[in-house]
Amino acid sequence: MQKNDIYVIYGANPIQMVKELLNNAQIEREINPSMKIVLKPNLVVAKPSKEGATTTPEIVEGIIQYLFEHNLKKVSIIEGSWIGDKTTKAFKVCGYEEISQKYNIPLIDLQRDGYITVNKGGETLKICKNALEADYFINIPVLKAHCQTRFTCALKNLKGCIPNSEKRRYHALGLHKPIALLAKNLKVDLTIVDALNGDLTFEEGGNPVQMDRIILGKDPVLTDTYCASLIGYSKEDIKYIELAEQLQVGSTALENANIIELNANIKNSTSFKPSRQAVKLALKITAEDACSACYGGLIHALNRLDEEGKLERITENIYIGQGYKEKVMQGLGIGSCTSKCSSFLKGCPPKAIDIVNFLRENLS
Ligand code: SF4
Repeated sequence: MQKNDIYVIYGANPIQMVKELLNNAQIEREINPSMKIVLKPNLVVAKPSKEGATTTPEIVEGIIQYLFEHNLKKVSIIEGSWIGDKTTKAFKVCGYEEISQKYNIPLIDLQRDGYITVNKGGETLKICKNALEADYFINIPVLKAHCQTRFTCALKNLKGCIPNSEKRRYHALGLHKPIALLAKNLKVDLTIVDALNGDLTFEEGGNPVQMDRIILGKDPVLTDTYCASLIGYSKEDIKYIELAEQLQVGSTALENANIIELNANIKNSTSFKPSRQAVKLALKITAEDACSACYGGLIHALNRLDEEGKLERITENIYIGQGYKEKVMQGLGIGSCTSKCSSFLKGCPPKAIDIVNFLRENLS
């Protein structure tokens, strides 16, 4: 697998999806049986993944199955939840205790781990030992919004690998710079993003938006740049992504990325059930047989316009879904299915950042 490759798979069966991603990227070639492999999900809070904050346990289970099938068995799951929750509680509530027992894999609570002091990039940081001493580090973040940094995914998920005292200090430092520096000091070999149903507005969940995909990348900066675009942000919107690039952690050059969609023409439309905040946004949409991957991107895009105070300036009908194929409609179409609308955005599914730009061009 090349550093600029990004693999994407759509669907609703996480175990099978993640195994297919790993197989296609031939990750087993990078690891040998003597290597200590750590899996770092996002268990920031003790809430089940369906609420949009934490990593879907089936994704981690699929990774373990894949590793075991290739005789790669020195695996552990590491995490340090946020200061307001105990990691042990999160392991239990989020379904990781079951995985640990089923596969005989240790759960390592980084809130109770020792630390090592590092200083690449000009600032002294403390990083938990079990994270830093891994031979192969697989980061498994959730793609979701964040109330302070707007977006959280690969780079920010590493914040679970520092002692609680450092978490407080990072907030005092404004988050962006220490997050970029942390990525400079903590080598990640692979990122597998849970983009099944991350939260619309907050890192702690409550407003999940179905996006029905898992993404695999080697370069965490490139992966974050791509994932930010899926919820309507450009790299300029997320300061720590650009800072990480300046520190040579990776590249933001999405134009050079090799995006490999394993099943681009997804046809598994599901009925999207918007939760709380998304209900207001869903009122703007006329949908018929829309795939969740498409619809979720539109919800994120409308939320960006709402944040900009422009939502009410969309006065034309917005159509989305397979039900509009070949139908001639007056209004704005989202996705290739709506190509007969008077104005439409191609893509199957289109990225939220492209939807944002398309809608901005069509404000009244
Ligand atoms: S363009 Fe149509 S087929 Fe493609 S993701 Fe959107 S709704 Fe589904």
